[in-house]
Amino acid sequence: MDKLYKKIPSSTCRKGCYKCCTNIIQYTPSEFKAMGGYEYNEKCSHLKEGKCSIYENRPFVCRIYGASELFKCEDCVPERMLSEEETLELVHQYIQLKKKEESDENLRKQTSGMRK
Ligand code: SF4
Ligand code: SF4
Repeated sequence: MDKLYKKIPSSTCRKGCYKCCTNIIQYTPSEFKAMGGYEYNEKCSHLKEGKCSIYENRPFVCRIYGASELFKCEDCVPERMLSEEETLELVHQYIQLKKKEESDENLRKQTSGMRK
């Protein structure tokens, strides 16, 4: 997952903005763990005093938003904008990773259920 994150250009948000943190986000099992859980109640549970309290561990979707032609944010200044093609490739890689993690997690649950 880190390798994928490194392919996303970093971006600078408008000071005090947290508009996108009021949307429900997607994450993989490893991202859920890295965030220390996730809850949504009209905003992300990690939004504290108008800031992301887990910035270094935020998931893929929070990283790519504002840094891509497909996920534009007018209040965000990315180092570089990912093209449509680059974005689709990264999203494809992310979905593959997500499927793999979810299937490994299901297998782990089934195996631990069999041991009981
Ligand atoms: S990506 Fe855009 S909407 Fe989200 S916090 Fe940054 S500036 Fe605000
Ligand atoms: S993880 Fe951070 S950046 Fe992502 S929605 Fe929550 S507060 Fe916002």
